[in-house]
Amino acid sequence: MLITRLKDKEVIESLIGKKAFVVNCHGCKEVSFPEEEANALQKELKDAGKLTGIITTDYVCNPENMKLRLERYAKEIEEADTVLVFSCGIGVQTIAEYMPEKKVCAACDTYPLPGYQGVTPLEHDCDQCGECYLNITGGICPITACSKSLINGQCGGAKEGKCEVDHNMECGWERIYRRLAQVGRLDVLKCPVQVRNFATYKDLSNE
Ligand code: SF4
Ligand code: SF4
Repeated sequence: MLITRLKDKEVIESLIGKKAFVVNCHGCKEVSFPEEEANALQKELKDAGKLTGIITTDYVCNPENMKLRLERYAKEIEEADTVLVFSCGIGVQTIAEYMPEKKVCAACDTYPLPGYQGVTPLEHDCDQCGECYLNITGGICPITACSKSLINGQCGGAKEGKCEVDHNMECGWERIYRRLAQVGRLDVLKCPVQVRNFATYKDLSNE
């Protein structure tokens, strides 16, 4: 199981640009979402005229479900600078892959809980690191897409785009670079060096 928590309000606001389109995942049985907090924040953003629209659905990680829903809101998404996704890391990656030319951001961090993990038919993975980096990696998870879970860029060992640890795998950081270039966001790689806080990688089931 896993649990999602909202990122700090200031962080979320800094991701929006002028306007955002929101995608909410109200879930699957394996995930606990902060629905009330998310609703309160979204109401505030809506009242301030910062949202072009909201989709709330189950299973954002189901691409068929999302494709149909997102198509209905094409105009509202087009008007938004950012698509802000309130879900676990897999949901954010699903949306980012569906719209590779749009800035797609994670509004939540994802933490582990013990028990059944649930399944997804997708190749995306989230290791529930507790400090989601998708906002600086173009929606590709550096924890699972890179064999060394590096969060500050490539190790330098890739050959012809393949990971030095697993030659059958594309280098995760080359994928991240290409995605950021595609959305014109290479500037985010100039962010301060990330130091992974392993204290966030903890079981919250007793809190
Ligand atoms: S960075 Fe990866 S492992 Fe961490 S919460 Fe985001 S998707 Fe999950
Ligand atoms: S080659 Fe790429 S994916 Fe492999 S460990 Fe290095 S940075 Fe990570």
